Amino acid sequence: MNAVLNITAPAAEPSQKSVEKTALENNKLHKRLCRLVGQAIGDFNMIEDGDKVMVCLSGGKDSYALLDILMTLRERAPIDFEIVAVNLDQKQPNFPADILPAYLAKLGVPFHIENQDTYSIVKRLIPEGKTTCSLCSRLRRGILYRVADELGCNKIALGHHRDDIMETFFLNMFFGGKLKGMPAKLVSDDGKHMVIRPMAYVKEEDTERYAQVKGFPIIPCDLCGSQENLQRKQIKAMLRDWEKKHPGRVENTFSALSTVVPSHLMDRDLFGFADIKADGLANPQGDIAFDEEPCSTPAAMPGTIPLQPL
Ligand code: SF4
Repeated sequence: MNAVLNITAPAAEPSQKSVEKTALENNKLHKRLCRLVGQAIGDFNMIEDGDKVMVCLSGGKDSYALLDILMTLRERAPIDFEIVAVNLDQKQPNFPADILPAYLAKLGVPFHIENQDTYSIVKRLIPEGKTTCSLCSRLRRGILYRVADELGCNKIALGHHRDDIMETFFLNMFFGGKLKGMPAKLVSDDGKHMVIRPMAYVKEEDTERYAQVKGFPIIPCDLCGSQENLQRKQIKAMLRDWEKKHPGRVENTFSALSTVVPSHLMDRDLFGFADIKADGLANPQGDIAFDEEPCSTPAAMPGTIPLQPL
């Protein structure tokens, strides 16, 4: 039998040009993240002078990116605010408890690790095979509010990004029959804290790339053994497909969330349809949308007789 000669060519060294190109792209990514996070903070007045912001760190790419960008912005901000990073160790099996403390100590940011075995509570109360996330999230929320109180933090920052907001919006619409997303800023259920989402304008693909560039020590999010919500998975796939096949559609839908016209929806609590009156005054912002669509210009259709002006 002939011996097989296996010669593997040594990996080619990246050229100086490609190294420079990558550095430039990484720099652009960092600038973009700072700009978008700064813009969201400004648009929603998320952080003010004297705030103490508790940054919730799960060990996932989004919360690492949030902490990193907030620390950069704090250096540059004309206002003074404090940051405390907080991780809730839920005692999931194989949770690598030393990763976050080591990372945060090296970063030099004040931090607190809260140890609470919510994993056992959830396992005890939820029958095998049922979704555990809703109880788990409720327990986590309560603990984080208490920790914010104990640390004297008035703001709680979460790492949700644009794609989380879009997924929640479509989940609520498709499966809940509600036009409701995920707010960039809200008062916590206990009425005591302001919850903020400074990454609201950031695309998930940017946090993914940023995590790679920065080499964040990511902790896997499936340690609890829970399956990802199937409906959320479907919506995520739908949005990724749109992004590929219809560039701009997701962007437009996201911007639609900030451009709501209550008089052109159907919520009678949001707009007083019952009391509207024709007052004889022309409204230039009235029902003129899509007037340029082909269906409203029959003259443009082949075989039709142009309409004469009245
Ligand atoms: S995936 Fe696991 S840790 Fe995350 S919310 Fe669901 S049950 Fe909790």
